[in-house]
Amino acid sequence: MTIDPAAAYDPNNIFAKILRGEIPCSKIYEDDWALAFHDIAPQAKVHVLVIPRGAYVSWDDFSLRAPAEEIAGFVRAVGTVARELGLVAPGYRLLANVGHHGGQEVPHLHVHLFGGQPLGRMIA
Ligand code: IMP
Repeated sequence: MTIDPAAAYDPNNIFAKILRGEIPCSKIYEDDWALAFHDIAPQAKVHVLVIPRGAYVSWDDFSLRAPAEEIAGFVRAVGTVARELGLVAPGYRLLANVGHHGGQEVPHLHVHLFGGQPLGRMIA
């Protein structure tokens, strides 16, 4: 099931529960702005999700409403995770699914970080 990016934020979505520590995750990084953890169903050798601490449904919601400081903090955190995982030299891919056509399933903004192998032109 895909989500409606225009819907109000649901504080009971699974990533909100992970942020509150109500359900576990395989955490690899956290700071004031972001949390990063391994995807439960990896589609590449490295498949990490980076999520903002703030309550944003999607990239669209985040880019529209988030204060500049929060956007900068989150973007820097994504780069930090990639560097700490040693992915910069071999390269990696970032992806954010938005809404129905994007195939977004969890209504809390998340950036997929893929790496650890040649990825070809697309993962879809
Ligand atoms: P989306 O299609 O961009 O919304 O991707 C959602 C991602 O969240 C999928 O790659 C799922 O495998 C992943 N996922 C769902 N639940 C969990 C979880 O509890 N822990 C880690 N990853 C999850």
